Amino acid sequence: EASIGTKPKWIRVKLPSGKNYKELRGLVDKYKLNTICQSGSCPNMGECWGEGTATFMILGNICTRSCGFCGVKTGRPSEIDWEEPEKVAKSIKLMKVKHAVLTSVDRDDLKDMGSILWAETIGAIRRISPGTTMETLIPDFQGIHKHIDRLIDAAPEVISHNLETVRRLTREVRIQAKYDRSLEVLRYMKEQGQRRTKTGIMLGLGETTDEVFETIKDIHEAKVDVITIGQYLQPSKKHLPVKEYISPEQFKEYENFASHLGGFLHIESSPLVRSSYHAERHVN
Ligand code: SF4
Ligand code: SF4
Repeated sequence: EASIGTKPKWIRVKLPSGKNYKELRGLVDKYKLNTICQSGSCPNMGECWGEGTATFMILGNICTRSCGFCGVKTGRPSEIDWEEPEKVAKSIKLMKVKHAVLTSVDRDDLKDMGSILWAETIGAIRRISPGTTMETLIPDFQGIHKHIDRLIDAAPEVISHNLETVRRLTREVRIQAKYDRSLEVLRYMKEQGQRRTKTGIMLGLGETTDEVFETIKDIHEAKVDVITIGQYLQPSKKHLPVKEYISPEQFKEYENFASHLGGFLHIESSPLVRSSYHAERHVN
């Protein structure tokens, strides 16, 4: 199935510029640092790097899952690199990252599902770059509490877990995940006293407006603090097609709906929103 025609004008990539961006770019090239911002050619690089925010991926770059929207390779993941926490922390210090977003591939192949390396990475960043705040965008850890607890105990400022899409499309969009399990992960973290929780959904995958409203309500009931809503863009022809480009006005309507429910600390809803967009604002 082909994606629908050309991108509307509101999807244009903003050309990165600015002093901070150029400095970071130079360091990243020089030390061959890995950021999702670059490997995912994110349209917001200029803005985020300008603010001192960047996203790093840990636990390798091969995932045990195969979500239809995601550009990460599926397969047998690499051996765990126990030096990775230090390496990432040093990159963050070198790049003078003020707010780091950390994410990982899913490691359903490991007994601890990668949660130990996750906790060590958070610890290493605290030690090596103490001024840096963190958002950790975590897998569902199959909903297993002891793995999630390791993350909560490591105390990043924000823990996020993305619902990605509405209930009906979850099977198609992230085959190994479950809508209710992800909601449960979010609810559990808040019950355990995690100070900020966050989730994100992508639009344009064929969901109806009513389904989006339902999803926002479900997220609200899980007492999530921050919600991000953005347009899905196809990473390559092999990925799920874009069914629709949602207009900025429609995004605004979802924002108003969420705002009306009350209780959300931050709502980001517009076409170019990625789950880590404006992430530095979500700490407070
Ligand atoms: Fe990087 Fe996320 Fe910002 Fe994109 S939105 S540039 S991936 S921090
Ligand atoms: Fe991509 Fe995460 Fe899905 Fe793996 S689990 S395929 S990294 S979205």
